[in-house]
Amino acid sequence: MTDPEEHARLREALGSYVLGHLEQDEAGAVRAHLDGCAECREDVAEIAGLRGPLDRLDADAFERPAVPPPDLGAAIRAQVAAERTAREQRTDDELARARAARRRRGALRVAVAAAVLVAVAGAGVGLGRGTAPETEVAATPTIPWEPVSLRHAGGEDVQVEDAGLVPHTWGVELRITATGFAAGEVYRASFEAEDGTMLPAGEFVGVGEKEMHCNLQSSLLRDDAVRVVVTDAEGRTVLWSRL
Ligand SMILES: [Zn+2]
Repeated sequence: MTDPEEHARLREALGSYVLGHLEQDEAGAVRAHLDGCAECREDVAEIAGLRGPLDRLDADAFERPAVPPPDLGAAIRAQVAAERTAREQRTDDELARARAARRRRGALRVAVAAAVLVAVAGAGVGLGRGTAPETEVAATPTIPWEPVSLRHAGGEDVQVEDAGLVPHTWGVELRITATGFAAGEVYRASFEAEDGTMLPAGEFVGVGEKEMHCNLQSSLLRDDAVRVVVTDAEGRTVLWSRL
């Protein structure tokens, strides 16, 4: 079981996770946790509903880089500590359910505040970084697999042998087996949400005629994804599909 300190840290990271702003090792830790924690999955679903407003705030931060209040991090930690202390002091079981609801809302506010803090402080530094592809990981018959017919959008020499989605508790994964991604060129995958937001799903480097397997992971849940695109280093769409 996750210890309370680690759990509090993971919950603060949920907002950034939903926005696709975590480094790959952090995102991996959140994914592993979401697989086993229904409470955090509920929070992710709630935060996902705020993604549009958060992303617009993010865009403003790019135009006018702002310095976060120096005591914001301390304020977040103080709120977490205060909630923990309050929890330990109260003993009335009849009020437990109401308290649980208030705690959950408080934790959600902390997660959103942390996401905003990261969005402001991290503007221009590593935003939108996703997960690097794992190599030589092929789809096995035991996992849920939704085939995707990727369409070409340019004159690329990419030959897709197999492509499909794997739904997870923490989001959705695009797996591609293909040849012809230009050697040394960086490609990026992203999923589009129903509200038009584009969520990063990581990047990979082409290896030319050699066959490659890409696992591209996004925080967007399968049911919320309406389109997937793979773009080249110049941002031109190479492959895409409606979902
Ligand atoms: Zn949790």
